[in-house]
Amino acid sequence: MSVTQQQVLDSLTQVASPRGVPLTNANVLSAISVTDGKVFFSINVDAAEARAWESVRAQAEAAVRAIPGVTTAMIALTAERKPGTPQAAPAAHRHSHGVQPASAHRPGAASPMSRQADIPGVAAVIAVASGKGGVGKSTTALNLALGLRDLGLRVGLLDADIYGPSVPRLTGINEKPQLDDNRKMIPIKCFGLSIMSIGFLVEEDTAMIWRGPMVMSAITQMLRDVAWGTLDILVVDMPPGTGDAQLTLAQNVPLKGAVIISTPQDLSLIDARRGLAMFKKVNVPVLGIVENMSYFQCPECGTRSDIFGHGGARHEAERLGVPFLGEIPLHMSIRTTSDEGNPVVVSEPDGPHAAIYRAIGSRVRDQLQGAIAAA
Ligand code: ADP
Repeated sequence: MSVTQQQVLDSLTQVASPRGVPLTNANVLSAISVTDGKVFFSINVDAAEARAWESVRAQAEAAVRAIPGVTTAMIALTAERKPGTPQAAPAAHRHSHGVQPASAHRPGAASPMSRQADIPGVAAVIAVASGKGGVGKSTTALNLALGLRDLGLRVGLLDADIYGPSVPRLTGINEKPQLDDNRKMIPIKCFGLSIMSIGFLVEEDTAMIWRGPMVMSAITQMLRDVAWGTLDILVVDMPPGTGDAQLTLAQNVPLKGAVIISTPQDLSLIDARRGLAMFKKVNVPVLGIVENMSYFQCPECGTRSDIFGHGGARHEAERLGVPFLGEIPLHMSIRTTSDEGNPVVVSEPDGPHAAIYRAIGSRVRDQLQGAIAAA
């Protein structure tokens, strides 16, 4: 029998808030999503009280997991400051070891890497980011991960683009992750990558309505409550944009570096500059800029046309003193293979596009060599 929202609510009446009232009467619950035995909701509390709520969150998770038929319970504790309290970033997140309001992390303070526990077994976590949506960030993240795989590295991909998780579509994966003996989610193995996406757990329209703090909480959980195993590089496909959710993510994920995807259009470069500034603010090294849809390559004759005023990203990278990682043409086969769930590095491994992604991968790998060797 399938699990219902009412069963979830019933189980939560047995869990008490720090003030002693049943959780269901504490006015802190988000909408409850129940799909195929997978339960997701958040507990939204004031940042000042977040620590007291962590054990409540754990009890709630245990209560929901005890419902027959529940396979996954993902309960996020999100903490928002009350209006008027002095802190710019409104988001907070949950670590597996507790809750920290975002105010504990000040942009521009010490490197986030010194504060953030690394993920055991993962040598380097890198972000693939873009200043805005639709520039091909997810397509590039997946093909870059595959390019790194071709260099002999053990690679994972975390689709953290919670507003529009596209990795299920790009890879054709439609199975749900299983839990291991420690109740950690086992990433899906596909094309030799270990892949995790919020899209494996919730319906796409549920993902769309998540607010900033919930985004951070869910992503932290996916980073830390997934049995990643031993990886040289974990590529995180970030949500597009440079808002609070992205900034908090950049601050709170133990990133060794970030790759910025831009298209040649000026607008996108302005957005890309914002992305650069965001990572700079939180002391995450920018590994470089990739210019996607850099020039048009005719699928019939291979002729190249610089219809977008190509070269802007290279120029911008030089001006800003960050590496330029490469240019990827706008090409039908990149699009069609993505849409078929068979990325171009897999479907045309000997073709020119796969070679471009591998070359970008090798420039990324070279910059992470120290971290990979140390691990
Ligand atoms: P984002 O993650 O930035 O929103 P996507 O990776 O989902 O962008 O790409 C948006 C669309 O553009 C997809 O249909 C994808 O297939 C297509 N696309 C991305 N990169 C290229 C490219 N280099 N050539 C052709 N189509 C591309």
